[in-house]
Amino acid sequence: MNMFRDLTPQDEAEFREWPRDPNNFNPATDTINPVWHPVIQEECSAMRLGYLEHEALRSTFFRDHTMAPFTKVTNSHQSTTKCTKCGMDVHCNVLPLPNEIEIGGEAVALNCVPEEDR
Ligand SMILES: [Zn+2]
Repeated sequence: MNMFRDLTPQDEAEFREWPRDPNNFNPATDTINPVWHPVIQEECSAMRLGYLEHEALRSTFFRDHTMAPFTKVTNSHQSTTKCTKCGMDVHCNVLPLPNEIEIGGEAVALNCVPEEDR
């Protein structure tokens, strides 16, 4: 049973635009409400993942890593990347389980040690 209405392409464009208004959703602070239409939740999830990736890159930058572009992991709410100099990784997860975290990996915790310096 689908509890949400089917969307026309015009509706979907409007639903994807709605969370882009800062008055409706802030990816840094707001949670994704499960009663929102799945298209809105999907857009909020993408915005949140972008925010987490930005925060992760800021951390790795201060540890002298040079991160490759993020790639999605099996679904749209997780992504990962590795340092091109040392191979340490970072993972971002918009929907972490209770025993998981949103941003994790060696590259946010340890300074870069390039292969040639080991
Ligand atoms: Zn590195």
